[in-house]
Amino acid sequence: MNGAFKDEDFPVEIKDCKYGKCAVASRELPENTAVGFFKGPVVKEKDVPEEEIRNVLIIDKGLFCIPKTNARYFNHSCNPNCVLDYDCVIRTLRSVKSGEELTYSYNMVFYEELEDGGPEDVEFEEWDPRWNFKCMCGSPNCQGMVDKWIMEDGKPYKRNQYKK
Ligand SMILES: [Zn+2]
Repeated sequence: MNGAFKDEDFPVEIKDCKYGKCAVASRELPENTAVGFFKGPVVKEKDVPEEEIRNVLIIDKGLFCIPKTNARYFNHSCNPNCVLDYDCVIRTLRSVKSGEELTYSYNMVFYEELEDGGPEDVEFEEWDPRWNFKCMCGSPNCQGMVDKWIMEDGKPYKRNQYKK
């Protein structure tokens, strides 16, 4: 998965910021620019070290990727400028200025993910309370506490409610 990518290939710098580390655009970026990717060991939930539980990406039911790439430094925003696609690549959702922080939503669910045959057709992973955090994104639609999945339009996620 993503074997051809290297962190150095992306127009991104990792910087210190008020939340710890953050990913910043190193130049002006058009919409749909690849800016990062998840790659690392894929382990069962019980094998995720406690200090990594906040960084994992769900790959499949009960399977988590522990990213060794810069993807681990991308912060959450409730009004993000990037999206994490199904191929584990993070891409810009709109044009981004040089020096702007790059963010994606950690808890947003897209309706197409839940359709029959979609990536999450079977069942969406339960939200792990250890992923909870207080959001500091400052956007007008900020959720405050990020402690559950939400649909892309802000509606609550309900398990198995979106089948066609
Ligand atoms: Zn927020």
